[in-house]
Amino acid sequence: MSKLIIANWKMNMSAKAAMNFIPKIIKSKNLVAVAAPYTYLKRLQNKLPKYIKLSGQDVSVYESGSKTGDISAKMLKETGCAYCIVGHSERRIFKHETDKEINDKILNLLKVKIIPVLCVGENISQKRLGQTNKVLSKQLDGALNNIKKPGNFVIAYEPVWAITTFQKGKIKKSASVQDIKLAHVFIKQWLNKHFGREGKKIMVLYGGTVNPKNSFDILKLKEVDGALVGAASLKVSSFNAIIKFN
Ligand code: PEP
Repeated sequence: MSKLIIANWKMNMSAKAAMNFIPKIIKSKNLVAVAAPYTYLKRLQNKLPKYIKLSGQDVSVYESGSKTGDISAKMLKETGCAYCIVGHSERRIFKHETDKEINDKILNLLKVKIIPVLCVGENISQKRLGQTNKVLSKQLDGALNNIKKPGNFVIAYEPVWAITTFQKGKIKKSASVQDIKLAHVFIKQWLNKHFGREGKKIMVLYGGTVNPKNSFDILKLKEVDGALVGAASLKVSSFNAIIKFN
C-alpha cells in the first residue's frame, strides 16, 4: 500500500530554492506533500506536478477578521493546500498552543475541506514516567473534541524527544521501531474506539528524525501509514531516498 510522506520545511528554504527543489523530487508510488512557508505556497502550487500535494504548516484559530499576521483556512484553500499541519510540538512548546486552539484550527480546516495533519506526542519526562498513552489520549481528546465524523484526516505521532529540534548533540535519533509500533497501535485503537469504521481510514504517520538510514525500517511497519519529515526533507537526495520506499 502507498504511504503518505510529508516534507515539513518549517521556516527554511528561499522561494528560489523551493522552485528548484520541486522538479527534482522523484515520482514514487507513495503520496507526497510539501508543507512550505506561506509566502510562496501559491507559486509552488503553480509549479507542482499532480503527484505532489501542498500543505500549510499552521492555520489561524479564527475564520477571518482583524487578526494581524494570521492566515485563515480559507486562504490556505485558495493557495491550493490539500493538507495543513496542526499542533506541531514546535508550536505547542514555543507558542504555548493549547488543545482547545488546536481543536478550533481543525474545525476551521474541516470546514474548507483541507485535510488536517494533527501532530501528537509525549515529551521525554512523560516518556520516562510511562505516560505516553495518557498524553496521547489527552491530546487526541482535546484536538478532536466535538468532531463526530473526521472524514479525511491524518495523525502524525511525533514524540517530542525524537524530533531533531529538541535533541542536543550532533547525533540525532528517531524513536525505536518498537516505540513507534506501540504508539501507533494505541492511536489506531483510540481512533477505532471513537470513530469506528471511519477511524480506520485515518492515516497515522510517524515523525521524528526520519532519514534515509532508518526510513525503510519505520515505513515497513504495517501500523505506520507514512512519515512527516523535517530535517531530511531539506535535501533532495535524502528526501528522494525516503519517498522511494516501496
Ligand atoms: C518535525 O519537526 O515534524 C520533524 C519530524 O522533524 P525532524 O524530521 O527533523 O525530526
